[in-house]
Amino acid sequence: MMLSNKELINFIKAKSENKRAKTGIEKIKAFLKFIKAEGLYPEMLKIEEGATESVARINGKEVLMFASNNYLGLAKHKKVYDASSKALKENGLGPCGSRLLAGNLELHKDLESLIAKLVGKEDAIVFATGYMANTGAIPALVEPLMNSLPFKKGSSVIFSDELNHATIIDACRLARGEKIIYRHKDIDDLEKKIKSQPRSKNKLIITDGIFSMDGDIAPLDEIVKVAKKYNCMVMVDDAHATGIMGKNGAGTASHFNVTKETDIIMSTFNKGYGGMGGFIAADKEVIEYLRIASRSYVFSLALPAVITAGVIASIKESMNEKYRKEVLDNSDYLRKGLKNLGFYVFGDTTPINPVLIGEESKGIRFSKELLNEGIFAPCVRWPAVEKGKSRIRLVVTANHERKDLDKLIKSFQKIGSKLGVI
Ligand code: PMP
Repeated sequence: MMLSNKELINFIKAKSENKRAKTGIEKIKAFLKFIKAEGLYPEMLKIEEGATESVARINGKEVLMFASNNYLGLAKHKKVYDASSKALKENGLGPCGSRLLAGNLELHKDLESLIAKLVGKEDAIVFATGYMANTGAIPALVEPLMNSLPFKKGSSVIFSDELNHATIIDACRLARGEKIIYRHKDIDDLEKKIKSQPRSKNKLIITDGIFSMDGDIAPLDEIVKVAKKYNCMVMVDDAHATGIMGKNGAGTASHFNVTKETDIIMSTFNKGYGGMGGFIAADKEVIEYLRIASRSYVFSLALPAVITAGVIASIKESMNEKYRKEVLDNSDYLRKGLKNLGFYVFGDTTPINPVLIGEESKGIRFSKELLNEGIFAPCVRWPAVEKGKSRIRLVVTANHERKDLDKLIKSFQKIGSKLGVI
C-alpha cells in the first residue's frame, strides 16, 4: 500500500502518540485523532424521513435516495405494513426470549417453511440478523459438535473468496480449523488451494452470491463442480441475491440451476424484502443440528414477531415478477447511461452499481457534490475497498422512476467533468 507524504507524516505522528499512550483509552484517542486527520472517519448524515424510499429528507431538504437496500421497494408496502401492525398488536415489541425458550412462535415456523420452499431446500432456520446467521452457522458447520467428542480438533478448512463480506470473515475467525483465502472468483486458484490440503479434512467453500462492494456475481456453477471433485461443502451468502436472482428470487443457486449441489444457502431479509433477519436453508438434518449448535441462535433473541410477519408478507408479495423486473431494468438503464458517459461501473446487472472515482478525497468530494445536487449516494473507500479505488455505490430499487435515474446521470456528467473523472 502506497502512502502519500502527508499520510506518512500523520501515520508516524500517530504511531509515536500511540507509543506514548499509557492506557487503552489514550490509545483509542490517539487512533481516533489519526483517522480524523486522514479524513477517514465516516460522516453519518441523519435521515429525517423516507430512508427506505426513493425520496428521503436530509437536513430539511428532499433528496433522491441511492443508498437504501430496499431493492424490491417492499419495506413500506401496504400488505407488509398491515401484517406487521397486526403482529405488533398481538405480540408486542420484542420476543423477550430465544427460540429455545420463550421466543419460538408459529410465525417463525411459517417463515422457515416459506423460505425452504422458495429456495428449494428441505428446511430453514431463521436468525435475528444475517450477521448472526453467518457467525452462528459457519463455526458449527465446519467443526461439527461431533468433533468435541473424542475426535481430533482442527480437522477442518474453510476456503473463502477474498472479497467475501465482513460477516463471513468474522464467522471464519470464530471457527476452528484452517482458513484459506482464494483469489476473487478464481476457480483455478481455489482448486490449487483445495488440492494442497489433506483429503481427510472437513472442507467448506464459501462465497458471496452477489458481492456487496463490486456488485458482481459469483461463478457458483463452477464452484460446485470443483467442490464435488474434492468432497467439499458449498455455502453461498445470498444477502444481495435473495428476492432478485433466480426463480421467484430464490437466489444465486437457482440462477445457475445448482440448488441441489449448493449445500447451504444463507441470506438476509433486510435487502430484497425490506425487513431484517437472516436465514440458513439446507437439508433437514443440517437445520435440526444448527438449532442446537449455532450459538447466536441458542443464546440470543428470536426475530421479533412484528418483523417476522412483515417479512412473510413481503416474500409473498415478491412472487409478483414485476418488482424484480423493475429493479433490474432500472439498474440496466443506469449502468448503460453512466457507461455511455465514460464512467467505469463495476460488476454485473444487479441492484448494486459501484462507479469508480479513484482517489479517496475525490470520492468524498464527488459524494458531497451529489448531495448539493439533491442526491444521496455515499462514497465507499479504503479500507472497505482497495486504496485509490474509491467508488460511489449506487443502489437502485424498484421504486426509482426513470426521471430519478435521468437526474442522477445528468448530475454524474456535471460532477464527473468538473472533477476530471470523465
Ligand atoms: N452478508 C452480506 C453479503 C451482507 O451484505 C450483509 C449485510 N449487509 C450481511 C451478510 C449481514 O446481514 P445483516 O445486516 O442482516 O446482519
